[in-house]
Amino acid sequence: MRLELLTVGDAFHDLIFMGLSRLPRAGEEVHAADFAATIGGGAVITAVAAARLGVRTRIVSALSTDAARTLRGEAVSVVNVRRSSEPHAITAALSMRHDRSFVTFAGVNAQLQTRLPAALARQRARHVHFAFAPVDCARWARISERLRAGGTTTSWDFGWAPPLRGRAGFARLLRSADFIFVNELEAPLYAGLPPRRSPADFWRRAATNTIVKLGRRGSRWISRELDLRAAAPRVRFVDTTGAGDAFNGGFLYAWLRGAAVRDCLSAGNAVGAQSTLAAGGIASLPVSLAGRAGQVGRNNRPIRPTKR
Ligand code: ADP
Repeated sequence: MRLELLTVGDAFHDLIFMGLSRLPRAGEEVHAADFAATIGGGAVITAVAAARLGVRTRIVSALSTDAARTLRGEAVSVVNVRRSSEPHAITAALSMRHDRSFVTFAGVNAQLQTRLPAALARQRARHVHFAFAPVDCARWARISERLRAGGTTTSWDFGWAPPLRGRAGFARLLRSADFIFVNELEAPLYAGLPPRRSPADFWRRAATNTIVKLGRRGSRWISRELDLRAAAPRVRFVDTTGAGDAFNGGFLYAWLRGAAVRDCLSAGNAVGAQSTLAAGGIASLPVSLAGRAGQVGRNNRPIRPTKR
């Protein structure tokens, strides 16, 4: 059966220290009220979110043996570009009530972008989702364009990467994708605007379809033809790590099933909101959207990303 979704990008072992009242100063130790160890990274979380909803999904990433086993247990097929002697990436997240800090060891992820193109060339899927900030934007724009020419749609979620906007080929990369996913801070960052200025005009011109994730306020779809918002369900969140990547999985599930524009946003919101109910990105991801906002009905008008 044809693969529906291929996710491509970094993976991490996340060590999440929760309930800290403050960060330790030099030489100090602080105690966390709670702790969780999980796998994370955009490609991992988006893959698991989509696979739990029944999307035939594969990941191309550099994974520890444990992470690869967990993903296979989630019905995600795995292409692992890590060699057995190489250390995998680790992130420690220090989570306080209103803020979070991170310490990351990149390990094998430092080699990832040079290995991905060859691994990707052997894969076929309906949709490819890229979850990393490319160093060589022009090269990735060409890869994205080639996929599109072959009938595969693409999406990108760069995460927070301030140098990206200045890299050669960035504008072409934005144009090459069917969907660009950004959060509320990334939308003005990549538009080159101060944080409070509305970046909608930039995105309408720069990308085919831009999906802006608005935290507890939901999400917004911006294209030349439309500008639409959908509210998120109200939840008592525990930890918002990975909510954006969970949103992407829910959104792409609905879109691959031919859902209407608003239902794609609602499915993303439902999965993003649900992911905040436990620590890390994957523990509380839903296996069905039935009965929730975001249910994908059979009579929805199919939508296709608009091509230019
Ligand atoms: P990111 O994790 O990339 O910063 P957001 O914080 O915008 O992205 O979260 C992604 C999505 O998850 C939101 O668009 C929304 O659908 C959902 N979400 C996040 N936080 C909440 C919340 N507190 N309540 C309800 N939904 C949320």
